[in-house]
Amino acid sequence: MTQALIDPFARAIEYLRVSVTDRCDFRCVYCMSENMQFLPKKELLTLEELDRMCSAFIRLGVRKLRITGGEPLVRRDIMTFFRAMTRHLDSGALRELTLTTNGSQLEKYADDLYAAGVRRINISLDTLDEEKFARITRWGRLPQVMRGIDAAQKAGLRVKINTVALQGFNEDELFTLTDWCASRDIDITFIEVMPMGDIGNEDRIGQYWSLKDLRARLAERSALTDLPESTGGPARYVRVENTGQKIGFITPLSHNFCESCNRVRITCTGEIYTCLGQEGHSDLRAPLRASEADADLEAAIRAAIALKPKGHDFDYSRQKVDGQVSRHMSHTGG
Ligand code: SAM
Ligand code: SF4
Repeated sequence: MTQALIDPFARAIEYLRVSVTDRCDFRCVYCMSENMQFLPKKELLTLEELDRMCSAFIRLGVRKLRITGGEPLVRRDIMTFFRAMTRHLDSGALRELTLTTNGSQLEKYADDLYAAGVRRINISLDTLDEEKFARITRWGRLPQVMRGIDAAQKAGLRVKINTVALQGFNEDELFTLTDWCASRDIDITFIEVMPMGDIGNEDRIGQYWSLKDLRARLAERSALTDLPESTGGPARYVRVENTGQKIGFITPLSHNFCESCNRVRITCTGEIYTCLGQEGHSDLRAPLRASEADADLEAAIRAAIALKPKGHDFDYSRQKVDGQVSRHMSHTGG
């Protein structure tokens, strides 16, 4: 029997996030600079290579696969890849196939995603105001995303909204956003902005809105009860007692989740990052391309997992961004 992937700190690796492209049809200010240089297409794993890579991880015990980017739904023929992953859901090897998307292409793909076996998706949305949406995403348009959210719900996909908490930007929409989600039976999770990549002139510290503060604001309106559930990641959940709504908080800058971390990430060029907040990574593309059999690839995966660090080094203390990583979020995938 194949041995499961267990890292040096006895954490079983069951969750793989795969970035299928570094490209995007938006240019969110906290994520990309306006003039991003994208990778030459030949650097990217082909759809067949993505299939082999994900299938190897599933053989080694991965149970949850999240497809991300860049914007995963702008990758050409991406539905071919989703449909190929259906076989792992059908066999029972994979428990969940999901994606994180900006929503721009969902009107087109929601039904196909459902047919491929996707049941839950995360959609990123930082504001319900059209003008602010255009400002934060630079190239995005809110009505298109709203049509995408409608299409997703109509297709039967369970939607979760991810909102980056931004000081001076969406503080004033806290209740507008949570109430809108509640009215549509959508869960919402707030994310603290992270120091990722060179994004031009934006001042990250100015953008940082502590979720401790956000939570205190929510608590002014209703009692909040901590929920015990954990995804093995940085998300923590509360129930809003007045409405029963579930709200999540992702605080990647805290260290309270590293000990239960069950995930690794693959970039669109086939590098594996075993920690979002560390530079350490290994190349899986070379062993993947070196042979048509998967023995080298599996050995390289095991060797990379053996190097998974205990935790990350992000720290915003003393108004200085420590532990900053140079790659963009769109490179490793959020
Ligand atoms: N394009 C897709 C999307 O926007 O959902 C998937 C990729 S995006 C990189 C994944 C998530 O990362 C999004 O929810 C986005 O808001 C978040 N993100 C990007 N840059 C971030 C940053 N510097 N700090 C915190 N979250 C960030
Ligand atoms: Fe694109 Fe997502 Fe990054 Fe926004 S957060 S620029 S939608 S990859």
